[in-house]
Amino acid sequence: MTKRIFRAAFLVSLIVLLLSMILLLSVLYTHFGRQLRSDLENEAGFIAQGLSHEGSAYLEELDSSERRITWITASGEVLYDSDTAAAAMENHADRPEFQAALANGSGEAARYSETLGQKTLYYALLLADGSVLRIAGTQSGVLALLIDMVPAVMLILAAAMLVSLVLASRAARRIVEPINRIDLDHPEMDDEAYDELAPLLTRIIHQNETIREQMEGLRRKQQEFTAITENMSEGFLILDRHAKVLSFNSAAISLLGAVASEENASVFTLNRSKALRDAVRAALSGQACRRELQLGDKDYQLLANPVRRDAECVGMVLLIVDITEKKEWERLRSEFTANVSHELKTPLTSISGFAEIIRNNMVQPQDVPRFAGKIYDEAQRLISLVSDIIRLSQLDEEAIPAEKVMVDLYALAEHVLANLRDAAAEKHITCRLEGCAALVRGVPEILEDMIYNLCDNGIRYNRENGSLTVTVSEDAEGIRLTVADTGIGIPAAKLDRVFERFYRVDKSRSKQEGGTGLGLSIVKHAAAYHGAVVQAQSRLDEGSVFTVFWPQKATKDGGEEK
Ligand code: ADP
Repeated sequence: MTKRIFRAAFLVSLIVLLLSMILLLSVLYTHFGRQLRSDLENEAGFIAQGLSHEGSAYLEELDSSERRITWITASGEVLYDSDTAAAAMENHADRPEFQAALANGSGEAARYSETLGQKTLYYALLLADGSVLRIAGTQSGVLALLIDMVPAVMLILAAAMLVSLVLASRAARRIVEPINRIDLDHPEMDDEAYDELAPLLTRIIHQNETIREQMEGLRRKQQEFTAITENMSEGFLILDRHAKVLSFNSAAISLLGAVASEENASVFTLNRSKALRDAVRAALSGQACRRELQLGDKDYQLLANPVRRDAECVGMVLLIVDITEKKEWERLRSEFTANVSHELKTPLTSISGFAEIIRNNMVQPQDVPRFAGKIYDEAQRLISLVSDIIRLSQLDEEAIPAEKVMVDLYALAEHVLANLRDAAAEKHITCRLEGCAALVRGVPEILEDMIYNLCDNGIRYNRENGSLTVTVSEDAEGIRLTVADTGIGIPAAKLDRVFERFYRVDKSRSKQEGGTGLGLSIVKHAAAYHGAVVQAQSRLDEGSVFTVFWPQKATKDGGEEK
C-alpha cells in the first residue's frame, strides 16, 4: 500500500509539475509576445521622431542589429531596410501591417517561419509625410523557447522530482503509518485512526465480535466433547478415511495398553490385532462392525461405525468397551445354570426313581414308609435348594422385599443357636454365645439366614463332641460377628473358593449333610448387601473361624450409599 500511495503521489506531482511548466511556458510566451509588441511600438515612436528631425541619415546611424527596420513610401516602395539593400526589395504595398498603418495610422501583423519555428512581429507606423515606418522583431517559438530553457528546465525538473520523491515517500509513510498502527484485535481502542476508516473499523469490530463468539462456542464445544470423552470408561477414537487417528480419549490408549498416540498416526500403531483390522476395514468400507478383542486377561468389544458425508465414507468412529466383567458374568451365569440344572436333576431323579418303584408295586408294604421318607428327604433338599437359589438371586439383584431396620446381632445369634439346638445335640456339640449386644441396620431375615448358614456349617462340618462359639463384639473400628468351630477345617488352598456357588470341599460329605453348596455364597452376598465383609480362617482338622465385619459406617447405614 505504501508503494502504491508513493507511486500515485509521485505521479501526481510529476504530472502537476509538467502541466505547470507547460502552462508557465505558454504564459511566458504570451507575455513575451505582448512585451515585444509594446517594445516595437515604443521603438517605432522613437525612430519616427528621429526620422522627422534627421531624415534617412538617422536610420543609417541607428544600431539595428536586434530589430529589422524598414521605411516604406506610401506606394509601398522600400526606401530603407536594415537587413537588405532597399533596391533589391519588392514592393510592400500588399503587406497587411502596411495597409493597416495607411488606413489607421498604425498596424501590425505576425508571420511565422516554420523552418525556424519563429514568429516575426511587424509594427507599422504612418509617418507625417505619408510614408510608413515598419519595425520587426522576432520571438522564438514555444519549442525554441523550450530548447533554450532545456538545461534550466532539466535542472528544475530533476530537483522537483527529487523533492517530490522524498515528499511522496514521506507522505505515503505518514498516510500508512496510522493504518499500520491499528490494533486489529482491538480497533475500538484506536482514537487516532482516520475518520474515513470508521466504517471499516466498525465492521472489523463486529467481525471480531462474531469470531470471538464463534471461537468461544467452538472452545465450549471442544471442552464439552473432551469432558465427555475423557470421562468415558469406553475408549473412543475418530479416524479419517486412511485410518489415521484424528481424535482419541485417554481411555482408548489405556484400554489398548498402548503409549499415547500422536494425532494423525495410524490406528494400527496402537494395536495390530486382526479384530481391530477387520473392524476398521469394514467401517471404512461403509459397514458398521462389531468385533471382540482379547488383550491379556481382558475382553473388549470393538464397535466400529462409518462416518458419512454426502453418502461418501469420510472416516469412522471406534468405541472400545471393556466387557471383561460382562463376559465373566456370562461365564458364571452359564456355569450357575448348568450347576442348578444338575443340582435339581439329582434329587428329582431320586424322587422319580423311588416313586416309580412304589408305583410298580416293587416295594414291600412295610418298606413304603422308608421309601416315602427318602422321597420326603429329596423333596426337602429340593425345597432348600430352590429357596437358596431364590435368596441368592434376590441378593444378586438387590431385590429384597423387606425394609432395613436396626437389628441386634447378639439376639439374632441367640435365636439361630436356639433353632439349631437339636442338630447340635445330635453331634453332642456345645454351642456358646459370647460378647454383647450390637446393633446393625439390616434386613432381619437375611441377617438371620447369614448367621444360620455359618452356624449350620459350624455344626455340620464339626466332629462329635466339638464346640461352636459365636461371638458378637463391637469396638471403634466396627462390629464383628465370629463363628468358630472345632470341626474338620478347610485346606488352605481351597479356603478362597468356599464362597463360590456350588463349591464344596468334599462333595459327598456336603450332600450327605444335606448341603446345597450355596450357603457360604449367600453369606458373602448377604454381608455385602449390608456393607460388611466376610473372611474365613481355617486349620485342617482343627476348626474354622468365619468373621463378618461391619465397618463403623456400615453399621448405621446398612451398606447403603448416602
Ligand atoms: P454346603 O451347603 O455344601 O455346606 P456352603 O456354601 O455352605 O455349602 O459351603 C461350601 C463348602 O465349604 C462346604 O461344602 C464345605 O466343604 C466347606 N465348609 C463350609 N463351612 C465349613 C466349616 N465350618 N468347616 C469346614 N468346611 C466348611
